[in-house]
This record gives sequence, structure tokens and C-alpha cells, in this order.
Amino acid sequence: MDRIYLDNNATTIVDPRVKEAMEPFFCQQYGNPNSLHGFGTEVHPAMRLAMDRLYAGIGAGNADDIIVTSCACEGNNHVLKGVYFDLVRSGPKSEILTTQVEHPCVRNTCAFLESLGAKVIYMPVNADGVVDGETLRRFIHPDRTALVSVMWANNETGLIFPVRELGEICRENSVLFHSDAVQAIGKIPVDVNRVPVDFLTFSAHKFHGPKGVGGLFIRKGLKLTPLIHGGEQMGGRRAGTVNVPYFVGMGLAMEMAVDNLAYEDRAVRRLRDRLEDAILAIPDTLVVGERERRTPNTILASFRGIEGEAMIWDLNANGVAASTGSACASESLEPNPTFAAMCISDELAHTSIRFSLSRFSTEEEIDQAAAVIRRSAQRLRAISSTYKNSK
Ligand code: PLP
Repeated sequence: MDRIYLDNNATTIVDPRVKEAMEPFFCQQYGNPNSLHGFGTEVHPAMRLAMDRLYAGIGAGNADDIIVTSCACEGNNHVLKGVYFDLVRSGPKSEILTTQVEHPCVRNTCAFLESLGAKVIYMPVNADGVVDGETLRRFIHPDRTALVSVMWANNETGLIFPVRELGEICRENSVLFHSDAVQAIGKIPVDVNRVPVDFLTFSAHKFHGPKGVGGLFIRKGLKLTPLIHGGEQMGGRRAGTVNVPYFVGMGLAMEMAVDNLAYEDRAVRRLRDRLEDAILAIPDTLVVGERERRTPNTILASFRGIEGEAMIWDLNANGVAASTGSACASESLEPNPTFAAMCISDELAHTSIRFSLSRFSTEEEIDQAAAVIRRSAQRLRAISSTYKNSK
């Protein structure tokens, strides 16, 4: 049985062309780019090309900086902790604004900064599941706010935030703006020319690049205390020998992600909608958030009366990989903060499943997955007392 992968918001398959482009940098061109000899200098052109591809991919200008990181968690930590050291620890600002629905790497870093004395405000989301301009205006203050950190698109729901409007409000107030664009790159246009972000983070493994490499964009002229001190790599902004093969792979993956945006918007969206229609045709199901407000690949669905984890097991046993919209942040029994912020009921939170597609998803897979999901829902409801009692 061929397995069907519908968990692309967790990670994506590495595009074979990306893998091929990385290959020479393991055993042939393996020099340290900081070495002065030929082994070192011969990797420079590939690194320059990779960097150019990253700049072009997000519309950055020559004077901006892009730092190659080990992942988006690192990039997000770097921005939040850097701004804390630069503007909050000894003043002149005191507050960081973020949302109640950020990825744990933002949320938990903010909690850490609170333990050091920073004030963090977690802005609520509106009825559409995003933080709007009106809400930001209520909380932002030019004298107090050091940074606003709002994701471009949510990992669980796919809901897209009005980052352009939020960035403009930050500009008006002379406040730094950071966006975690991990779930947006390769799905919707991400252009730092159109959206006034000061810092932007991304991660290659979410757009068919390798795991363990990401990027942090820093708007020209901005200072940011490093997270990793050491050598002068990345212009002294991030120490550590650059992971050349992964950097090369990320550059190509970025270029291909941007080249495929139109396909994503047309073909992936069509398949996503096809799957969503099939899910909604199953009685007592619902999907969180309007389609047009979501990234084109994501569905967060709820199947009344079926525990999400039970359904994941059943789907997995039948060859379909999805993920729970985790009612609890997996290991802990704490309620999922994103769902709590969206006022999603416990019942809905416990019965939700995230399906996320990619440009590698095929129509045949989607139709097979839809049939598996329908059968799984029937099977599990037949043994669910919660479902029977709800009828
Ligand atoms: N931010 C968002 C919105 C994510 O979805 C993820 C991964 O799921 C991350 C950050 C962390 O990315 P990485 O695995 O590169 O650290």
C-alpha cells in the first residue's frame, strides 16, 4: 500500500533537485568557506548563488541582511532575545507584543523573557482567528513597545494574518516588526518590499528543502545582538561554520518555492478544496476558518465524536499521514493555546485533524485519502459512545 503524506505543515519531502544540488558539497567541495585555500574558496560561488536566491525569494535588497540559521526556532529566538538585549533589558523600551497563537518557539521564548523581567502582551485574535490592525492599535505604544512579533500564517489553521497592515502600524509608531513566515513561504507571496517587516524568519524544510537550516532576514541598518557568539561568520551576526550543503539546498528550494507559487495557488488549492469538500460531505464535520483566508494547502477539520488521536492512528494504519490539531500541546496536558485563543471548544479541539498538502500531492492521492477518511470516520463513530450520545 502506498502511503499518502498529508502533513506538509510539519515537514515536506526534499525536492530531488534540491538533494542533487547539495550532493557535491559533502564529499567533493567540502572546504570550510572561511579557509583561504582553494578548498575553502571554491564553495564561495555556490554560497553567493544560494544567498542571491534567498534575497530574490523574499524581495530583499542588497543592503539588507539574511543570516543562515539552523532552523526557524533559532531565528525566532534570535529576534526576540536580541531585541530584548538591545532595547528592553536596560531600556528604553519595556514591552514586547505578540499573539496568543504563535508557534511554541515564539511563545516559550516570550515566557523566558518574561522571567527576565520583560513585559509581554499576548494579543487576542478576532472572530476570523487573526490579530487585526484595530487590536494592534489598542496595544502598541511608541514609547513602550520594543517589538511586535506576529506570524505570517498559522501552522495549525493556515489562517493568514494581515501582516502588511500590522507592519504599517508598527512603522507609524516607530516600532520594530517581526514576522514568522515559516508557514507562508512557498504557499503565498512573501515580499519584504510590500510588507514593512524588520525581521522575518523561515525554515527550509517547510518548502521542500532540508531540515536543520533556515533564514533570518534583517532590514538594512538594523542592529541585533547575536544569539550565537564566536567567529565572524555571517558578518559577525551569527557565529558557526555555515552548513554549506544545506545552505545551497535552501537557496534552490526557495527559488523553486517562489517559481511554484502560481501552481500552489491554482493546483494545490484545487486539491485542498477537493479534499475539504469530501470531508464536509461526511456528516457532523466542520473546517476551521474560511478557505480564502487560509494558505492554499491547509485544512483543520473536526469530526464530531471522534478523538483526534484515535483518528490519526486509524488513518495511519490505512496509509494516510495527518496530524492532530493537538487539543493538548502533545506531551503536556495543557490545552492547546491556539485553540483556546480562538475560543474553539474543548470538544472541537479534541476532535480536530490537520491535513496539509504540498505541490507533490496528487489528485489520485487526494481521492484515496478522502475515501480512507470517510471510512475511518464511519468506523470510529460506530464505536464512539460520545458520538451516539450526541445524536
Ligand atoms: N514557526 C512556525 C509557524 C512553525 O510552523 C514551525 C515548525 O513547525 C516553526 C516556527 C519551527 O521551525 P523549525 O522546525 O525550523 O525550527
